[in-house]
Amino acid sequence: MENKYTKPYFKGNAFNCPHCRVYASMTWSNFLETDNFGIIDIKQVEGYSFFESACYNCKRSIIWYLENKNPKMFFPKEVAIPPEENMPENVKEIYEEASLILGDSPRASCALLRLALQELMKYLKENIEIYNGLKNRNIDEDIKEIINIGNFYQEQKETLKEAMNSVRLVGNKASHPSELDINDNPEIANILFEMINFIVEEIITKPKEMKEKLNKIKSAIDKKIN
Ligand SMILES: [Zn+2]
Repeated sequence: MENKYTKPYFKGNAFNCPHCRVYASMTWSNFLETDNFGIIDIKQVEGYSFFESACYNCKRSIIWYLENKNPKMFFPKEVAIPPEENMPENVKEIYEEASLILGDSPRASCALLRLALQELMKYLKENIEIYNGLKNRNIDEDIKEIINIGNFYQEQKETLKEAMNSVRLVGNKASHPSELDINDNPEIANILFEMINFIVEEIITKPKEMKEKLNKIKSAIDKKIN
């Protein structure tokens, strides 16, 4: 992706605004109240204290709260990084569903992302010629096949294979009882969203962009000759 995305973070000076999506600086404030003696303090509601960050670009607010000292976004709903622009529709649908539940259940998010990867395999088989031979029987087999038949550099192969396997493995663990508790480790879910974007970028976007560039050169040369 050309534009780097900075996830909103507590007390962050600047990040991508969840309202307007623009990378913008944020102004932070507390919700304050005065007590009977006129002493100003941070307002507590049901044991929660709230914070506001206002976006310099769209002027809208993000409301945060602390839960056991962990900052969480209250409004708007915390979502994952936006999907890669060339993500196929059937994959994007699941990606966005996973994104919407990220704040409540990172574990459910990871299980859905594995499904998104499976949908990507189906898309590749049906829409991109070199991947026609995918069996779509199991994800493990498809991963090996993609690495075999795709036009990737050696190093790219390794990273891509690991990225796909990480989505597969974490997704599996999310769906079964396991020692890895993803809900205690939301960072894992966030990384998995990045992995799906990376996979789409490597398999779909990069070859597509390269082809477009080569076609431009080709048609420029053809014009000169004719
Ligand atoms: Zn904004």
